Amino acid sequence: MTLKPPPLRNDCFALPAGVHWTPVDEALALLRDRLHPVTAVETVALVDALDRVLAKDVIAQRSNPPLPNSAVDGYGFAGGLSDGEHLIPLMEGRAAAGLAFEGEVPPGHAIRILTGASLPKGVDTVILQEDVTTDGTAIACRGPLRQGANARKAGEDVAAGEVILSARRRLTPADLALVSATGGNALEVRKPLRVGILSTGDELVGAGEEAKSGQIFDANRPMLLAMSARMGYVPVDLGRVMDDRELLRKCLDEAADKVDVILTSGGASAGDEDHMSALLCESGAMQEWRIAIKPGRPLALGMWQGVPVFGLPGNPVAALICSLVFARPAMDLLAGRGWHVPQGFQVPAGFSKLMKPGRREYLRARMRGGRVEVFKSDGSGRISGLSWAEGLVELGDGAAEIAEGDPVMYFPYASFGM
Ligand code: AMP
Ligand code: MG
Repeated sequence: MTLKPPPLRNDCFALPAGVHWTPVDEALALLRDRLHPVTAVETVALVDALDRVLAKDVIAQRSNPPLPNSAVDGYGFAGGLSDGEHLIPLMEGRAAAGLAFEGEVPPGHAIRILTGASLPKGVDTVILQEDVTTDGTAIACRGPLRQGANARKAGEDVAAGEVILSARRRLTPADLALVSATGGNALEVRKPLRVGILSTGDELVGAGEEAKSGQIFDANRPMLLAMSARMGYVPVDLGRVMDDRELLRKCLDEAADKVDVILTSGGASAGDEDHMSALLCESGAMQEWRIAIKPGRPLALGMWQGVPVFGLPGNPVAALICSLVFARPAMDLLAGRGWHVPQGFQVPAGFSKLMKPGRREYLRARMRGGRVEVFKSDGSGRISGLSWAEGLVELGDGAAEIAEGDPVMYFPYASFGM
């Protein structure tokens, strides 16, 4: 008797019948509705606030600029200049930034003034020094010049009392400039979200360790640790755990004390060695999310002693894409950042593809020559493609035939905060 492999199933390319595969947007809406900030609020000084998340709106303490001042180096006087030549007597003294001219400039007189200097009484207009000749007692110049030229009004940028930054914002270098310029310093921000990263699998060894035949190096842990750091979170390395339920339980117990959210990879399906989903099931708070996404496997979502756990697929490509699409917005909410839809761009396809209906697909992609090209293989074990790519193309849930030049949505990695 010869052993024959089983025949291909008729439905081998079909999505499982009778099972509800949740559309990506539906899954995202669930996360958005059910998660809220978990991080505590603290007050930090401006210099320590980069990348922190505002817990409260920030109000300008002071106007910017606080007083009317000169935008250029030149000569100040009242009113504009009519067309033609002018000779204006020059006052003694000058106004410089931080060194105000205390006197008053009478009508028909001018005063030397430097960039940033508060306008002296009697001055509302400044002429550029390049447009003037002077002997030190008068200036000669040519009109016309509009009243108010080269002068900045008090509060023209920001008025005291205005909301300058809204709660939930992650502070940028420019934000720090704005807070400082308007007299702020102490900021109420959230403590950074601590993200625990755990790899599971008997086959894994860490970078720098010795790999025996049959073992593979752990790609997910360095990737997810780095991704969390890029997103502004505090990555916490929870190491690697063998496919052993008790070891995994111990690891989760310890982690629950020191992190706000856990990302695990591997063992999230329903196979024999899929202890992560089994454990989360046991804890009673596990949901297997079958999401209509490629690449992706079921996501195991659960709570472990009050800490949300994202059980990501083991496959590095699926692990990263599921992290960017699902874990990222969830972590934003937990961190107090609110909900953010990544900002994509509609660009011409540099490829063609036939799309089956029923699930959303993400392709490793990058922009070249004004078109978006995709990685040569969509094999989900191809880590080189993740590294080759600079972002993802998102193809919608419906069937489609994409031809070269057709518009498609491209999301640079940066749009996911990575
Ligand atoms: P699993 O979800 O545990 O069934 O793993 C799916 C595939 O991803 C298997 O080929 C694993 O060997 C691989 N895999 C799981 N975890 C990692 C990891 N941390 N780094 C690289 N590959 C992994
Ligand atoms: Mg595994």
